[in-house]
Amino acid sequence: MPILDKIVIANRGEIALRILRACKELDIRTVAVYSDIDREQKHVLMADESVCIGPAPSSESYLNVPAVISAAEVSDSVAIHPGYGFLSENADFAERVEQSGFVFIGPRPETIRLMGDKISAINAMKEAGIPCLPGSDGPLQEDPDQFLPIARRIGYPVIIKATGGGGGRGMRVVHSEAALRNAVSLTRSEAGSAFGNPEVYMEKYLEKPRHVEVQVLADEHSNVIHLGERDCSMQRRHQKVLEEAPAPQISETIRHDIGQRCVDACKKLGYRGAGTFEFLYENGHFYFIEMNTRVQVEHPVTEMITGVDIVKEQLYIASGKPLSYTQEDIRVRGHAIECRINAEDPETFMPSPGKIEHFHAPGGPGVRVDTHIYDGYTIPPHYDSMIGKLITHAETRELAISRMRTALAELVITGINSNISLHQKIIDDGNFIAGGTDIHYLEHKLGIK
Ligand code: ADP
Repeated sequence: MPILDKIVIANRGEIALRILRACKELDIRTVAVYSDIDREQKHVLMADESVCIGPAPSSESYLNVPAVISAAEVSDSVAIHPGYGFLSENADFAERVEQSGFVFIGPRPETIRLMGDKISAINAMKEAGIPCLPGSDGPLQEDPDQFLPIARRIGYPVIIKATGGGGGRGMRVVHSEAALRNAVSLTRSEAGSAFGNPEVYMEKYLEKPRHVEVQVLADEHSNVIHLGERDCSMQRRHQKVLEEAPAPQISETIRHDIGQRCVDACKKLGYRGAGTFEFLYENGHFYFIEMNTRVQVEHPVTEMITGVDIVKEQLYIASGKPLSYTQEDIRVRGHAIECRINAEDPETFMPSPGKIEHFHAPGGPGVRVDTHIYDGYTIPPHYDSMIGKLITHAETRELAISRMRTALAELVITGINSNISLHQKIIDDGNFIAGGTDIHYLEHKLGIK
């Protein structure tokens, strides 16, 4: 079965470069699409072909469905890789790609649609045997007489979440009955304006959970494997800052059990491609929160400890090939940590776009740098502030941390502000070193708002 001949990389930045590198290794020709401010991106310069798809604002370029599909048409490509963000979890886009005769490198459009609606995702997961939080089992109605008893049954605190929410927005924690009515109507109206869907649901709010997620891969031949879990509890405003794999203090039995449940659920759902089951983990229990139907920013930590190239597997799956591994082949080796490097002020978190005067990457054994920046590159203000990822891998967690300490000290980025010093604070923090901190740790203990 031949591998895909030529693909469009419908993204920018480090993930576009990551996909380009995987394609080069597999002799797949690449077409970079870019906005007119992104001409000088490394992957655009390295791709076999490139097509400008519009002006800088992403709504007119990277989110412009007809422009991306036309790029595939004019370049005679066979498939489109959406990366993460932008159009990657847009079911309508995936459908249009397939209807236009191209392969969408990701799950089937109906799966993306099912998982994009949080209520239908939770219902599907419950049916497939995945543990979920106690909740409203569906959307809340306008009438408080309908939702007040639900909150009493679940017990406060509860969280009101937008069915169509994402990116950590559209959520409100409620601690008492007195505040519930207002919280529901506020979240409903915010959800309506932010996501075009005012529907909200309720679930138990966990006070000290960790964010632990399971990576899966599924091919067209009903083979499904899991690659263990990642801990992404170090967050600010529900955004991940630092991730690691495996998750500290999770036993082999628990790991195996949750991994197997995810594999079984994928089989029941007819899942295809790479995917991540996101869970909150508290007192030894996992509770499903959502499924990401795409490659994730933090996929490298899993790659480092398993040796599996997740992007290459995505390309194989999209070519109709079987997975390169069985579950028995997957062995976790050592520990990996990833620091997301952002162009932002480390104190105020204000984005810091601009020209990079000098960039010096760390190196040595077990050090990986995934970034598209280079000396003289100008970070545009229009997109996400993440400019790269620094990953270290070593035999133990302790050594991975100390390798990260050295790598962060070697990393030099001048001309803009970056969050390198924030990462230095985190990896020198006693509780982080002990392992197993919860999702509020970074905001509370380090006094960050
Ligand atoms: P999004 O799709 O916006 O990322 P998620 O449902 O994945 O939303 O939740 C994002 C983050 O919000 C989680 O990682 C966690 O920090 C917090 N969160 C969500 N649901 C709960 C809950 N029931 N209890 C406690 N924290 C929660």
